[in-house]
Amino acid sequence: MKKRIFFMLAAIGILQVNTVAKEKEDYKISKKPIEMSILAIQNGRVFDEKWSVFEEAFKDTNVKLKSATSKNLTDEMQAFNLSISSGKLPDIISLSFPDKLESLGMDGGIIPLNDLIEKHGPNIKKFFEKYPRYKMDAVASDGKIYFIPDYYDWYGMRASQGLFIRKDWLDKLGLKTPETMDDFYKVMKAFKEKDPNGNGIADEVPYFDRTTEFADKELVGLFGAEFGFYVDNGKVKYGPAQERFKEAMPEVIKWYKEGLIDSEIFTRGFQGRDYMLRNNLGGMTFDWFASTTAYNTDIELKNKIEGFEFVAIAPPEYKGKRYAPDARTTHLGGWAITAGAKDPVAAIKYMDYWFSDKGYELSNWGIEGDTFVRDENGKKMFTDKVMKADGKTPLQVLRDDGVQFRIGALQDYEYEKAWGNPQANEWAEMYVKNNYVVDPMPTLKYTPEENRRIQKLNSQLDMAVKEMSQKWILGADDFNKSYNGFIKRLDSIGLKEALEINQKAYDRFVGNK
Ligand code: CA
Repeated sequence: MKKRIFFMLAAIGILQVNTVAKEKEDYKISKKPIEMSILAIQNGRVFDEKWSVFEEAFKDTNVKLKSATSKNLTDEMQAFNLSISSGKLPDIISLSFPDKLESLGMDGGIIPLNDLIEKHGPNIKKFFEKYPRYKMDAVASDGKIYFIPDYYDWYGMRASQGLFIRKDWLDKLGLKTPETMDDFYKVMKAFKEKDPNGNGIADEVPYFDRTTEFADKELVGLFGAEFGFYVDNGKVKYGPAQERFKEAMPEVIKWYKEGLIDSEIFTRGFQGRDYMLRNNLGGMTFDWFASTTAYNTDIELKNKIEGFEFVAIAPPEYKGKRYAPDARTTHLGGWAITAGAKDPVAAIKYMDYWFSDKGYELSNWGIEGDTFVRDENGKKMFTDKVMKADGKTPLQVLRDDGVQFRIGALQDYEYEKAWGNPQANEWAEMYVKNNYVVDPMPTLKYTPEENRRIQKLNSQLDMAVKEMSQKWILGADDFNKSYNGFIKRLDSIGLKEALEINQKAYDRFVGNK
């Protein structure tokens, strides 16, 4: 009996050893180590083979990536153009501009991945089947896949910015959080007139913004009006030519005229938020959750302004709906295999590795026991090495290990949540859960010919809309008198053609499901 139990245990033991060994073996792409060159520069940071994330991937797969560019070349487009003109493409190119990869693909410099994925990319295939939307983002206008996108966790977190308000000012004036557009206006008015900063001067700026791009877009956006092309029930429309824009813009003009919007909103600049908050002048803004929430834990600011509290609130309701006019895109760039690649099959297998459970974890969390650990329920959290580094933010520590470098992979929102400000996370989640976030226009794929036309039309349309909205808001032109002329100008630029091109591209995009 004893013997039999021993035998059985031994057998189980052997079995376990075998499974572990097999699992490790599964990721191996080649028996002998192979090297592939990569052009990859993200935010000025050149790919480094010594990052622990990529060393671990090498251990698993036997594929080592080596940067094809020098450490001193930090501009990715410059490096990309140099590489093309030299005629010596690396095996793999990672770029934040997928359209560049796709157009190089149509010229023969990048190889289509459709067949390679079908034959050698089981994890990517499964991923595309599970998320048709993500696949749609990868397909070019000719139906081919030239790059694997670097996906945001779009389903987990698509909110990026929200409406912030000085809660302590509301309390001081005995006001409630604005629920409707009407309340919103009244609160701005009270901020302007009732001296919430208590210095006896009407110096408050009820609404401010540090970017000109968002100054006008966001404000009309709170009414559900669009500033560019968007899709309504499968039909591509142009926001400024729609009724909702005609409702929203006069309100924004009125707010500006009454001094409720920063009079210098178009010229204030990127430090504007800092200036408005540190000098106790600004009441509301629409900005990134993480960086804006951080003002609440700024010791210097808290010491200077007693009771300072800048909180995110739901966008005010307009005609029964709340609109947050800003969302993350589904992806940001991606990577591709060039026509010069020595071993495209090994390259796609390596790309596929990042969609395996191990690769997914590695790209988001780094190395278990080093950058992250698991609690008894299996929930992952970052270690002190990441969270308590001297003089470095958690994200900087992670980036120094190669975590979240731009490769073709899926982001795990939990990763961001684990190092992010819990309060900011909570507010961003409130926006997602309540469906405030207006879906962004997908990144459409154009044929080379369409692309030439749409680039030209877009830049002229954008210019006309920006120019006129500034004129209207600043009071240099009367909205009611000039709106029809503005529409005529859009028509003469070629709005109709731009709508047709976008509709075609959108229909193609939907057809890629
Ligand atoms: Ca004041």
